[in-house]
Amino acid sequence: MSLRDVSREALVGSVTLGAVFVAGYLLGGRKSSRMSISKSHTGGKDNPLLQYVVNHSLREHPALAKLRLRTMEHPSNIMMVACEQSQFMANMAKLIKTKKALEIGVYTGYNTLSIALALPDDGVLVACDISEEYANIGKPFWNEAGVEQKIDLRIQPALQTLDDLLTSGQAETFDFAFIDADKVNYDNYYEKCLLLLRKGGIIAIDNVLWGGKVVDASSGDADTVAIDKLNKKLHRDTRVNLSMLMVGDGLTLAIKL
Ligand code: SAM
Ligand code: CA
Repeated sequence: MSLRDVSREALVGSVTLGAVFVAGYLLGGRKSSRMSISKSHTGGKDNPLLQYVVNHSLREHPALAKLRLRTMEHPSNIMMVACEQSQFMANMAKLIKTKKALEIGVYTGYNTLSIALALPDDGVLVACDISEEYANIGKPFWNEAGVEQKIDLRIQPALQTLDDLLTSGQAETFDFAFIDADKVNYDNYYEKCLLLLRKGGIIAIDNVLWGGKVVDASSGDADTVAIDKLNKKLHRDTRVNLSMLMVGDGLTLAIKL
């Protein structure tokens, strides 16, 4: 993913991040404390409706709130998933009683932590990234939340990890997968995740609107073309039920039939 592409991702996907004016919403609906996030993602401040959504729905575990603030200090913080989107995916994972999950693209591990918190004590999240440096930022917060033992971090190209899982006989054993790494490999990730998922499992695919560029992909770069091609393929794919949601930078849910 080039820096230029990351910037584009920031324009839409992470606008939601800028909208978050809530921190320290404790799980279980206990009393909340509010603070604004002082960072470069200020787009959301101009979207009062989005701010309302976040202010009236985000329930961040304290360790998640801390990791978000820590991530804001990182120069590539625009890569972080939108908080309300992460919460939605954790709720989806819980809904289908996820015990085994996959994440392709960890960055500082905000969503990793969010999903790990949604897993039962004996659950596992195989978290794939090529950057140990990024993941090291998240680890202390995974520990603080007491879920580090559920996170199986694999530092190597995600395609390799997915192949390893397949060759070790883990096809059709995963419940939930989140695809959020290099866009040109999205279709490869999708196909391998589909093999790894059980029937009724969910694949969540991020950035499917790619800042709106998918509307005219013909003028686009390789990432735009790859995302648009997968969107078109998924629309016709009879192996899954499908929803494309206008949350963050666009989130597709593909439910394996
Ligand atoms: N899901 C993360 C979150 O919730 O904050 C954000 C992921 S960020 C958009 C994309 C990540 O994909 C980066 O951390 C990058 O290092 C990783 N990545 C890029 N190419 C990869 C590859 N071939 N295999 C695994 N990870 C890769
Ligand atoms: Ca993303």
